[in-house]
Amino acid sequence: MVVERKSFWNRKPAWGAAWLSSLLLTFVVPWGERAAAKVTTKSEGSWSVGWQPAKLANGAPLIFQVTTPKRLDSLSGTWLEHEVFFSFDVTSKTWYGIAGVSLGTKPGTYSLQLKGSAGGREISFERKIRIGRAKYPSISVTVSKQFTEPSTEQLQQIKQAKILKRDVFSQVTRQQEWSGPFLSPVNARVSDVFGTRRVFNGETKSVHEGLDYAVPQGTPVSALNAGTVLLAQSLYFEGNCVVLDHGQGLLTLYLHLSEFKVKAGNRVTRGQEIGLSGGTGRATGPHLHIAVRWEGVYLDPAILLKLHLPRSEEQHEK
Ligand SMILES: [Zn+2]
Repeated sequence: MVVERKSFWNRKPAWGAAWLSSLLLTFVVPWGERAAAKVTTKSEGSWSVGWQPAKLANGAPLIFQVTTPKRLDSLSGTWLEHEVFFSFDVTSKTWYGIAGVSLGTKPGTYSLQLKGSAGGREISFERKIRIGRAKYPSISVTVSKQFTEPSTEQLQQIKQAKILKRDVFSQVTRQQEWSGPFLSPVNARVSDVFGTRRVFNGETKSVHEGLDYAVPQGTPVSALNAGTVLLAQSLYFEGNCVVLDHGQGLLTLYLHLSEFKVKAGNRVTRGQEIGLSGGTGRATGPHLHIAVRWEGVYLDPAILLKLHLPRSEEQHEK
């Protein structure tokens, strides 16, 4: 366990002193105390703001952990023009909120604005955070003609899928439904990472906004975390697709499935089987594509899978 944590936090030096101090703290304090220790060096007053991963870059999902000068009734944040929904963890007396940095975010310093309320009175805090640049690969892909030059009928199907997705993606559940760390959907080799620039027939058409696993048709696919099924149906490009809502604006998507094991509206637990892998929709062959979407922004699933996250007590009671 300790080894795993070290390898995750042990990153190459990039941003000097602030990074170095958080690294040093990593070796001497366990996770529960690390946030508090980090705060002493990184915050003002008695607010403390920490985050994972320690080094932020474009495309990364992240979790903010905040402790406040006094007990609050609620806490909300503004980050890169998005709202961050926080939940309070009673055990660590810490507020946790999922967020992300879009692929298009330029390197620089950005601020997290926090607003809390206690007994009708508002308090606020601002924390400047450095965002670096991540490097992503580029690959060439060939797809069948129906996906590059769709017929009138296919254009209609694409349009319908687009409207459906817009409706599904516009729903935001503020309440935290995830609990504990996110788990891999299958136990298999990663065949394409997030952020890969895809070149179709010589032209740069898209960026890979998910993570691919090399799995044969019929492999059980499990939910990354607890949540509610927003959608379980066939779409033109995605094929048979499941979308899970984990709360705090975070969704996970599972594409190209051959079979569904859940229906829209179902509650799922972390690790629950939601479908079988396949090659439906725009796929060169059977594989599993997963995506992580936070308030309209696609983020790197591989980073989400590495975050050390607390279990929600409320989730256990349900
Ligand atoms: Zn993919």
